[in-house]
Amino acid sequence: MAAPVTARTGHVIGGSLVDEAGDRIDVVNPATEEVIASVPAGTPADVDAAVRAARAAFAGWSVRDPKERAAAVLRVAQGIAARRDELAATITAEMGAPISFAAKVQASLPAATSSAVAKLVLDGGYDFTEEVGNSLVVREPVGVVGAITPWNYPLHQIVAKVAPALVAGNTVVLKPSEVAPLNANVFLEILAEAGIPDGVVNLVHGTGPVVGDAISGHPDVDMVSFTGSTAAGKLVSVNAAGTVKRVALELGGKSANVILDDADLERAVKIGLGNTFINGGQTCSAWTRWVVPAALHDRVVELAVANAAKYTVGDPTEATTRIGPMASLAQRDRVLGYIADGVAEGATLAHGGTTDGLPGTGAFVPPTVFAGVRSDMKIAQEEIFGPVLSILPYADEDEAVEIANSTIYGLAGAVFAGDDDRALRVARRLRTGQVDINGGAYNPAAPFGGYRQSGNGRELGKFGLEEFTEVKSIQR
Ligand code: NAD
Repeated sequence: MAAPVTARTGHVIGGSLVDEAGDRIDVVNPATEEVIASVPAGTPADVDAAVRAARAAFAGWSVRDPKERAAAVLRVAQGIAARRDELAATITAEMGAPISFAAKVQASLPAATSSAVAKLVLDGGYDFTEEVGNSLVVREPVGVVGAITPWNYPLHQIVAKVAPALVAGNTVVLKPSEVAPLNANVFLEILAEAGIPDGVVNLVHGTGPVVGDAISGHPDVDMVSFTGSTAAGKLVSVNAAGTVKRVALELGGKSANVILDDADLERAVKIGLGNTFINGGQTCSAWTRWVVPAALHDRVVELAVANAAKYTVGDPTEATTRIGPMASLAQRDRVLGYIADGVAEGATLAHGGTTDGLPGTGAFVPPTVFAGVRSDMKIAQEEIFGPVLSILPYADEDEAVEIANSTIYGLAGAVFAGDDDRALRVARRLRTGQVDINGGAYNPAAPFGGYRQSGNGRELGKFGLEEFTEVKSIQR
């Protein structure tokens, strides 16, 4: 495995690197269990300083021509693309994503989404004003945005907030995940190189209960955009209510892949498994429940097991590795706990489930397939956030939809069917923010977000841009 990198980095407030003495948070490589860096454990005073810098920068940034702001964000997209390999290596080291996936998705997706939102204004003619009768309706920036992000797609989650917030004219206080914070410092360098003025984006490292809490409760933060667990999202909402902030939440998921009886099973299983195990299953929109016709259950299990056996687990710096370690030892233990729960509840462990044969060091979990899962089981209801698939049989289409809609979540989903009209009909019955039919391609401009306890609001594209705006009506 790669030699450990030991680095020390700090907050970025008003354009300056702030790295004072004080408590620090170790960054641990989950493949080697070695400490590779440390970041400061920020305090409410750091948040105050960052909010002051963002407020001061707002006066100039918010009144710039939107095209000028979009052009700056396009330069940021180019900067991300230019430093792709460095970003991928950083993300692999801090959260364990296999290097080929880190380069292709973790470090590349943010370039695509930030470029897409910039081009909406530059080439797409998106206008922040609209005539409605005798009113001029103007979309204005919300103000100072607090952005709080998780570790699973660390740079993507940051950019999905910061890029549209900047195009819309906001300034930002960013708190990245303390588990995978290093990519954020590279991103702040890219912002500076792209000519984003000092103070427009400020970075405060630290834990959720201290720095995240100080942001969501801060009287001079106008909006908090949060991505993370549903439990933490609820705390953010409660804390933000004290100052009636705008709150946008991108939370957990337990998405269903509904396979209908006329589907191409081999295709459904191959694409389905790729989605279930993507990023080691640490993906909020992963299709972790497959809802399959009872008569085809055993065949789907057989295909899924044969496919799962092809997923190589191991050193994330190897180009051929498909599943690296979980992002942390704590996450590994959580996933293994759920696997034990599935066995205890009587689900059939069809593949994986044991760490025998995996590296002794590192947060490794095997790709795991449970068959004969009932919808009331814990493994069918709770977000596991690891490479664990539950296969649930259904009797008819109505029951398939009922099972798919039976969790507290509603983030994503899939339908595989031979008949397009039937697939669309079922897709429309799923209470979720996204549905892919027969493996429909990812669209970086399509709105992304959840129904129910998967969150409020939408990210990406036009909807993601409008999320960071206030609406003013001027009557003439
Ligand atoms: P997490 O909720 O533990 O942490 C997310 C962020 O919130 C971190 O920066 C953390 O420090 C901060 N935080 C924690 N407690 C907080 C509090 N009380 N106040 C303010 N901030 C707080 O989540 P995680 O473990 O980093 O990420 C995994 C979770 O994120 C999963 O549930 C996953 O589904 C979800 N997620 C959702 C999406 C989406 O778009 N819907 C995308 C990625 C991840």
